[in-house]
Amino acid sequence: MRAHRTLLIRLPSKECNVDYINRLMALTNLAYRGYEVWVPDLPKNIQHHLYGSFKNFKGSLVFGTKPKRWLAETWVPLTTLRIYQDGSRKGDGSAPVVLDFRNNIIKLHQVCRNEPRCVVTIPMPKWVVDRIKEGGDIKFAMIGLKDDEPYLALTAEREVEPYAPSDYILAVDVNSWRYGIAWGLIRSGRLVTWRTEGPSTFLIKTLYHQAVDRERVVGKLRRVGYGDSMKASRVREQAKSRWSRIYRITRDKAYFLANKLVRKALKYKALLVIDDMTEESRKELLEEKLPSDVIKLLMSNLKRFVHQLETLAQWYGVPYEFRRLPSTVCPVCGSKLVQEDDRVMVCGNCGFKAPRDMVPMYWAIKLNSLEK
Ligand SMILES: [Zn+2]
Repeated sequence: MRAHRTLLIRLPSKECNVDYINRLMALTNLAYRGYEVWVPDLPKNIQHHLYGSFKNFKGSLVFGTKPKRWLAETWVPLTTLRIYQDGSRKGDGSAPVVLDFRNNIIKLHQVCRNEPRCVVTIPMPKWVVDRIKEGGDIKFAMIGLKDDEPYLALTAEREVEPYAPSDYILAVDVNSWRYGIAWGLIRSGRLVTWRTEGPSTFLIKTLYHQAVDRERVVGKLRRVGYGDSMKASRVREQAKSRWSRIYRITRDKAYFLANKLVRKALKYKALLVIDDMTEESRKELLEEKLPSDVIKLLMSNLKRFVHQLETLAQWYGVPYEFRRLPSTVCPVCGSKLVQEDDRVMVCGNCGFKAPRDMVPMYWAIKLNSLEK
């Protein structure tokens, strides 16, 4: 199986011409639709590259079945040449992107500015070296704009076969950040460890209230005609920075946890079972009558978490499957569970009792034993 991971690198703005990259992106967009437009004032080799390699790229992973959020369809596909430490070379000799592992640099030929023989050099990211050490190769690259800033996307590819799982299962139940992501390590039908993890909800709450307070101040100022004042814009900035800080906190946690869980699965050679029914969590938050903007924050970056978990599982050859692991149905007799104080779930039929976030783990055990 081929696995892929992608890294985004911000390119030095000073050395890049945004208009030029924009034009290349527009040509790529046309190439998508099957048009070859030869523009006289753009480097011929780049245009040859675009139309020549595009056909090879189109069916490949870069524009493949799994769209990555920032890989907008107009990013310019580029081939790469890899020069390894021992001097051996792989890839396209005339590639616009040269990864030089002897000097630890990446050279970009003529894709940053419309100047003959323009070369922009950037340091080799550690991420690339790590992926190569893991047996990956950087066959593909793309250049494009994100929020009007130039970026290079590098895609590592690795041939990997998922291992045959041991008697361990790592079950992951994706919840809102209010209660955290629940995971349980199961061995031969028994729950070994179980935990819920997430960012500090206290910090998120504090930042949220600070942001809302500041927005109220801005509203007041606007009503009395000071909406455009220095003070209003300062307070508005403060509110905005708090919203984005919350978003960053959940994003970092999402990446951290995905990495941690995949490493845990690797360590035990476990089968990774993922329940990403986030709708159930959303419903629970709605039932608690939380404001919609709070719910949005508590649900932010969960999709990213699942995507990263899947990407890393593929990359490291961790066998995984998506499965529905209910938290409101009794895993013993199938009756509906009733929620008591402190989110403890109780079955009125058979007496089963467990914390709500632990119920999915029992389901993972049950489904696995049923399969056997
Ligand atoms: Zn029951």
